[in-house]
Amino acid sequence: MVMQKNVCVIGAGIAGLAAAKAFASHGHRVTIIERSGDLGGVWEPARSYPEVQTQSPKELYRFTDQPMPANYPEWPKGPQVHAYLTDYARRHGLLPLMQFNTTVTGMARRADGKPGWTLTTSDSTGATRETDYDFVSVCTGQFNERKELHHYGEDGFKAAGGVILHSAEHTDPSRVKGKKVVVLGGSKSATDIAVHLVKAGASAVTFVYREPVWRIPYFVGGLINFKRILYIRAQEEMFPGWGLSALSRLKHAIAKPFVWAHWRGLESLLKIQLKLDKCDMVPETRFEDGVNCSVPIATPGFFPMVADGRIKAIRGTFDCYNGKTIVMAGGQRVDADIAILAIGFKLDVPFLPQAFRDKLIQPDGQYRLYRVIANPDLPEMGFVGFNSSFCSVLTAEMAANWLVRYADGKLAKQPTAYEMQNNMDMMLRFKRTERPAAGVYGGLCVAPYHFKHFDELLDDMGATVTRRGALAEKFSPPDADAYARFLASAPGYRAEAVVAPVSTMEAVVA
Ligand SMILES: Cc1cc2nc3c(=O)[nH]c(=O)nc-3n(C[C@H](O)[C@H](O)[C@H](O)COP(=O)(O)OP(=O)(O)OC[C@H]3O[C@@H](n4cnc5c(N)ncnc54)[C@H](O)[C@@H]3O)c2cc1C
Repeated sequence: MVMQKNVCVIGAGIAGLAAAKAFASHGHRVTIIERSGDLGGVWEPARSYPEVQTQSPKELYRFTDQPMPANYPEWPKGPQVHAYLTDYARRHGLLPLMQFNTTVTGMARRADGKPGWTLTTSDSTGATRETDYDFVSVCTGQFNERKELHHYGEDGFKAAGGVILHSAEHTDPSRVKGKKVVVLGGSKSATDIAVHLVKAGASAVTFVYREPVWRIPYFVGGLINFKRILYIRAQEEMFPGWGLSALSRLKHAIAKPFVWAHWRGLESLLKIQLKLDKCDMVPETRFEDGVNCSVPIATPGFFPMVADGRIKAIRGTFDCYNGKTIVMAGGQRVDADIAILAIGFKLDVPFLPQAFRDKLIQPDGQYRLYRVIANPDLPEMGFVGFNSSFCSVLTAEMAANWLVRYADGKLAKQPTAYEMQNNMDMMLRFKRTERPAAGVYGGLCVAPYHFKHFDELLDDMGATVTRRGALAEKFSPPDADAYARFLASAPGYRAEAVVAPVSTMEAVVA
């Protein structure tokens, strides 16, 4: 019998919703703690920059049991994603489980000696509270602790009327009209913001980036939706993965010239389509060496705007501020009213005690997580949504379904601590030496190995149906409806509430 647990889910983004649903549907009591005033995480309206939309097509950015509404566009806008998530939480009865405006500030092993954790939380009034939980699902995402960047002269820039914002603070489009704006960073957010600044009437837009990277257009060659390329198993198999047999290595060696030609062909196509030569933005790295969660989608309009000068692109970085001028490392000087720093976020689990953080995060920043979900040195705890990908809703849901079984000892292949440690060592070796691109974001990205990752999770869960037809499986993207069937084929169970025995004294009183 599996005993019902008191489970805390930290974070009400996509991963938090997936975890809460998985634990609640297996019979556990769930509390969701969310530090902001609404659900959605990165899709919460208060933290979204204007015009934000998904990179993933809508059928690849959904839970298995709920498609996005039919009237949504192929790449839904931020408010649409937020509405979808709110509807999902409502349908699954998750809203009453949420404690908003509550931040987890610390955790410690339970003082009563029982397995689990005591969480310290702080609410909007500053009041703190300690609560015991049997299990904790950390769903705090990778985009929460803003990176900071300071340069000499920034106080003078601000004193002269200049404004410096992190990209997550750029939520008010009206403030940029008629202003000279400089965007620092090369991510999708940076190009989205630069394009939007032009459309919103900024008087000058400068884009400052370190080095050109390959960006994928929504339609490759203007015709083929990129999901038909980057998301398919046939493509994924071109990347040698981890734990390959001698035969698989031989197959990769034989196919190498064809695979090489494939990537050079794609690069040539992208150069022509995106006018990378004209923009002086041809990447110096090979396309295939950089495929991971950091591959940005090309914001429509970005390259044409660079080509025709509406966006001035400068390769380099900030050196300092001088009055209302930003001086670049290469000596260029750009007058600015607003600097938007699209410099990303720090990965961390700040509320975890240092001794446990040391077990989780290696000195080189790599996370030590089996299946990117759990670590036996961090008992009664797991991480959902840390296996980010090109289809993060599905990866989060798969992780959540794996984690509840792991927590309950109900995986068909429940790993021993020894097996987990060996596997984590192997994966760290793979990320550090065989495929450094897999080490981005602390190694917390399963792209481009979505199918391989899903195969492992389904196998662990004991799913008996794991494939569609041969052709669909090889040449079409992961299908959320199919994954609903695969998950349903894993053995089911439900945790039982244990009724506390009536003590002798209570019995006497009664
Ligand atoms: C602009 C943007 C567009 C994206 N588009 C795509 C896409 O198209 N496809 C894709 O696959 N991925 C995309 N991503 C990646 C995205 O992060 C994931 O898809 C997904 O939304 C992550 O969900 P999450 O729940 O793991 O994390 P988050 O959405 O970051 O949610 C984490 C939650 O935890 C809360 N939290 C953090 N710390 C605490 C604490 N101490 N106490 C209480 N609560 C806490 C936060 O407030 C937050 O609500 C995008 C990301 C961004 C920023």
